[in-house]
Amino acid sequence: MRLLTIVSAALIACCAATGQTQAQNTAQGAAQSQATAPVSFDKSAMDLTSDPCQDFYQYACGGWRESHPLPADKARYGRFDEVREYNRYLLRSILEDASRPGKHTPNERKVGAFYAACMDEKAIDAKGIEPIEPWLNKVAAITSKQQLLDLIAKMQAAGLPPVFNFDSGPDLHDSTMNIAHLDQGGLTLADRDYYLKQDAKMMEVRGKYVEHIQRLLTLADETPKQAEDDAKTILALETKIAEASMDRVSRRDPKNTDHKMTVAELEKLAPEIDFPRYFRLVGASELDLLNVANPEYFQKLSALFVSEPIANWKSYLRWRIVKSSAPLLSKPFVDENFEFQGKYLSGQKELEARWKRCTSMTDADLGEALGPIYVARAFPKEAKKRMDVLVAAIEASMGKDIQSLEWMSPETKKAAEEKLGKVSNKIGYPAKWKDYRKVVIKPNDFVGNVRAATIYEHKRDMAKLGKPVDKTEWDMTPPTVNAYYDPSENNINFPAGILQPPFFSAKVDEPVNYGGIGVVIGHELTHGFDDQGRKFDSNGNFTNWWGPNDGPEFERRAQCVADEYSSFVSVKDDKGEVHLNGKLTLGENTADNGGLKLAFMSMNSQAGDKNNADKIDGFTPVQRFFIGFAQVWCENVAPQRARELALVDPHSPGKFRVIGTVQNSPDFVKAFGCKPGDAMVPAKACHVW
Ligand SMILES: [Zn+2]
Repeated sequence: MRLLTIVSAALIACCAATGQTQAQNTAQGAAQSQATAPVSFDKSAMDLTSDPCQDFYQYACGGWRESHPLPADKARYGRFDEVREYNRYLLRSILEDASRPGKHTPNERKVGAFYAACMDEKAIDAKGIEPIEPWLNKVAAITSKQQLLDLIAKMQAAGLPPVFNFDSGPDLHDSTMNIAHLDQGGLTLADRDYYLKQDAKMMEVRGKYVEHIQRLLTLADETPKQAEDDAKTILALETKIAEASMDRVSRRDPKNTDHKMTVAELEKLAPEIDFPRYFRLVGASELDLLNVANPEYFQKLSALFVSEPIANWKSYLRWRIVKSSAPLLSKPFVDENFEFQGKYLSGQKELEARWKRCTSMTDADLGEALGPIYVARAFPKEAKKRMDVLVAAIEASMGKDIQSLEWMSPETKKAAEEKLGKVSNKIGYPAKWKDYRKVVIKPNDFVGNVRAATIYEHKRDMAKLGKPVDKTEWDMTPPTVNAYYDPSENNINFPAGILQPPFFSAKVDEPVNYGGIGVVIGHELTHGFDDQGRKFDSNGNFTNWWGPNDGPEFERRAQCVADEYSSFVSVKDDKGEVHLNGKLTLGENTADNGGLKLAFMSMNSQAGDKNNADKIDGFTPVQRFFIGFAQVWCENVAPQRARELALVDPHSPGKFRVIGTVQNSPDFVKAFGCKPGDAMVPAKACHVW
């Protein structure tokens, strides 16, 4: 339950900066010459010619959207990306310093060596396909179903995406303990709809996908004929895997992924897959009990192990190895991967400069070695103290909000308050860092370095099985410009990277900070009480703590939000109109609406009479709250990317995060003097919290 989804070729990246160090930009092919420091509340970002009561997004963001056309190396660019981009310059200067000879700490040496190996394009290009050849040879040697499963296990342990996912995580019914989770996986395209939908766009995507497979496999030394045959086989097999997979909306309900069973029961369910052997090979030999998120998937996969010839499985595994490694290999692989993934699917015109990709990959693979260096350079000490005060204020508002709900019974209110009281918060960075001493980083072996880091993470993950959950761990690295709520741990988490403008600044008036980081805090807190989070109790266990009438009443109110956002059109072009999926985005939209309300309440209770203070820039404090909020979400998006996101992203696009939220807010209507009949004053406003 994150604030936003960051999907890029190079996983997550980003970071905050104080602005003192701007690395010299000699980047080869960097689209922007230099990232500029983001600011909170920007009057020039507004379009003052538009009417706030007709289109508040245009009013708050029209100027920004015009002055920030989509950079060539982005498929989507908004305020979050502005911060991320700006801060990548800081990470870059850290990594370049660390990669030069000199006196360095072990962490600095490690991240410096990783970054340098990634930047050594010449060495990477010279190797061509060599780094994955041992894997391709392993595939070639397979002659039995048992060898097939053995290789799937080895791939899993090395971080190569196999046919299903296996990892550790909290037990849904005893959140203090880690158990094993077995789940569906195995698709290359981002959603089962890409394989199964029969509309013109998806059929076009599949055609392009087959061509892409052919080209990448040809680069991996297959003959054109073999690559052509393989491409058809791979699409057909992935389509069968897609048919066996559960859709995203169903997966949002924890009851659909809650199936604890013994290994013996799993064996009965999927008799053709030797799971005890698999578990031994991935380092989970003592496994007895596990959660199988999607039993039907494994039933069908087991049948596919019989019905599909070994040769088809070998084509598929070869493809999974080549495709997942392509961004790490020589230029022809990187370019072909980008042509399909970045340019065709997302509408990104140019590949990001190498230093940007390498910075992001270092953060993704050695995040907690880079983290302490970043924190020392960029995390203002005051931020933690200030955040504690803000979080306490927003939590107090949630308490008041719960009490004021007319539709909730006193018993359920009591349980909700208990849950609220147990929410803990983590700010900035972990109390203890991961120990990377065993991760060996070598010069001239970039792919090997990535594998070393992923093998380390896999072993670390397996070691958690059967052990108590460590709530001090983080799911995001410190430089990340994002935040999250963890339903099993019942905590809210704010990495250092987000604690800066436009979210948070010591230089602006408080209403703007409440509209920025205040709404972010309220958003994460509300996740504990959205359609998904409400199903977990104060201890993070999946259980129903709602009174008999309160649950249905919640669902009725949530349905209003789902319908509202389903009516929004995300893309309209010659391939047709794409609506948002109100059910997929329900949790995030509920959190946005709750977050805005709670932050507004907190601002009022903290500000007292100051809300009647003089205008700044011509705006009252409450108007500045709403404009500050909206300006966090200014963005430009390529239509291709918008289409992808509408399918896979549980978050609404920036425009609807603003419009969908303010039009439910009576405080907004009052602040801008909007009237019934205005576009921002719908006949029926939705209120969950
Ligand atoms: Zn969220």
